[in-house]
Amino acid sequence: MSPVIEVENLHKSYGNAVAVDDVSFTVAQGEIFGILGRNGAGKTTTVECLVGLRSPDRGRIRVLGRDPQRDHAELTRRVGVQLQDSQLPERLRVGEAMRLYQSFYRNPADPRTLLAQLGLAGREKTPYGKLSGGQKQRLAIALALIGRPRIAVLDELTSGLDPHARRDTWDLIAEVRASGVTIVLVTHFMPEAERLCDRIAVIDAGRVLVTGTPSELIERTEQPTLEDAFVALTGRTS
Ligand code: ATP
Repeated sequence: MSPVIEVENLHKSYGNAVAVDDVSFTVAQGEIFGILGRNGAGKTTTVECLVGLRSPDRGRIRVLGRDPQRDHAELTRRVGVQLQDSQLPERLRVGEAMRLYQSFYRNPADPRTLLAQLGLAGREKTPYGKLSGGQKQRLAIALALIGRPRIAVLDELTSGLDPHARRDTWDLIAEVRASGVTIVLVTHFMPEAERLCDRIAVIDAGRVLVTGTPSELIERTEQPTLEDAFVALTGRTS
């Protein structure tokens, strides 16, 4: 089966600063693919290029066989995105945001069910500006999933969530994947990567250091945990 995401020799600079130096990977249908890396490694830039929000300087990206730049409108309907620090207008209510996003799609999910799954039941009338950080994060996940995407790109899925909300979100993501959705997950949280990801790319200084299953990374580095494997691979302790 051909991959649903192909990234070949991606390169992106901001002025003189090279953010992504040479990144290549593929993601198969139905996989949960993790992107791990230290702060500033180039993860967000990579996924922003993947979803067509940034144009690569060089390299080739195909998502569901399409070019994210050229076919942006088409892919927007089929790829759900939750990016770091996404913001909505302060006064927009949760229910309004859900209805607005729902209106972009032909066959959206049921907003009530999704809000309930994310622990936001009964919050429909709350303005965005009155939500806690964790509630904003959960709303961002709901908005990424409302269009029943074929691919969901989730950057820092559970950052800011309490342990209960985090576990509920992991269960939800496992369910979403079980329905055939391919997921790209950027995370710093190793138990999350270990629990959810089928394969992981470790990115450092804009390059892919290694790609493999969590247990392959652990075996390869002869470390006891994925976190130790990650630290060993990225070669520094801070
Ligand atoms: P983090 O884990 O901290 O979110 P990241 O791996 O997602 O980091 P990026 O956000 O892709 O990393 O950033 C990669 C590099 O590009 C960093 O050195 C960052 O300072 C730089 N960078 C990112 N966005 C911009 C921008 N809009 N303008 C200039 N430089 C940028």
